[in-house]
Amino acid sequence: MEEIYDVVIIGAGPAGLSAGLYAGRSQMNALILERGQDGGQIAITDSIENYPGQAVQGESGPELVARMAKQAEGFGAKRASDSIQSVELKGDVKVLHGVKQDYKTHNVIIASGAHARPIGCENEGVFTGKGVSYCATCDANFFEDFEVYVVGGGNSAVEEAMYLTKFARKVTVIHRRDELRADKHVQEKAFKNPKLHFMWDTVVVALHGEGLLSSMDVKNVKTGEITTIEADPDDGMFGLFGFVGTVPNTKIFEGTGLEMDERGYIPTDQDMHTNLPGVYAAGDVRVKSLRQVVTAAADGAIAAVQVEKSMSNY
Ligand code: NAP
Repeated sequence: MEEIYDVVIIGAGPAGLSAGLYAGRSQMNALILERGQDGGQIAITDSIENYPGQAVQGESGPELVARMAKQAEGFGAKRASDSIQSVELKGDVKVLHGVKQDYKTHNVIIASGAHARPIGCENEGVFTGKGVSYCATCDANFFEDFEVYVVGGGNSAVEEAMYLTKFARKVTVIHRRDELRADKHVQEKAFKNPKLHFMWDTVVVALHGEGLLSSMDVKNVKTGEITTIEADPDDGMFGLFGFVGTVPNTKIFEGTGLEMDERGYIPTDQDMHTNLPGVYAAGDVRVKSLRQVVTAAADGAIAAVQVEKSMSNY
């Protein structure tokens, strides 16, 4: 007989793995689906300093997430590697159409997270992987002793820029305003870092180079002046890292009846219910005020407990 899961969790970041842990621990037939590597955005984060109790000095995102995955699997949550392409979320049995197979389930927890927002400049796609990156942990070592630019002014931009100073000769943060959005204590650390420089009121307009990124046009938003930044001739190239926020991974839910806000985030009540019965959302994919590992993990736990409570209906 075709398997119908109690709950299928889409995404194995902190929200999905936490949901899997709670679902497995309460003996549900739970499946966690992941299309890439576990961890979502923390898989590409150098160090996590603010997850309560996570006092393993210098532990990276991937290490923390590996322990979360082991814990969820230890409680019996099943795992599958597949990419969901479309979904049928209405009705008692939901159907998730993956590349490899279809999955039937009474409940779905959407924990599909978010991805980096593009910088939005000309030729960005042309130079992605050829100078342009969105992951310092993944690509910093390619820029050992080169010059690097970081776009953005939030916690991600400033923290990742500081990380990049361990590799690059010089790191310049390009920010569209004249003050950072990052937390004050993060700013204080950044302003003390001698390898970190700031270019205020500036946006990147266009990228150029023969194969590799070697020059870019930047615009001062106050004066309108456009300046071209060239790579040091001895280097022949430089790095450009984009940290200008995130976009939710919710494209596959468009047109399914699932309510989303104008930016694609999913509204829920405090118990993670979406507007569709049996469909829950947890983690960064939700409309919420704080997107952190601790809030994602909490969302996942709440969603799984709500699924368990609803199971008496079947
Ligand atoms: P964010 O806080 O939304 O910051 C995005 C930054 O990019 C802002 O400075 C914004 O400028 C700038 N920006 C947006 N669109 C832009 C564009 N098209 N061109 C140029 N600049 C643009 O995003 P985030 O830094 O990725 O952080 C996301 C969430 O995770 C936040 O809540 C953050 O606090 C949290 N986070 C926390 C930690 C931590 O606690 N250690 C670490 C990382 C992230 P404006 O300032 O002008 O809007």
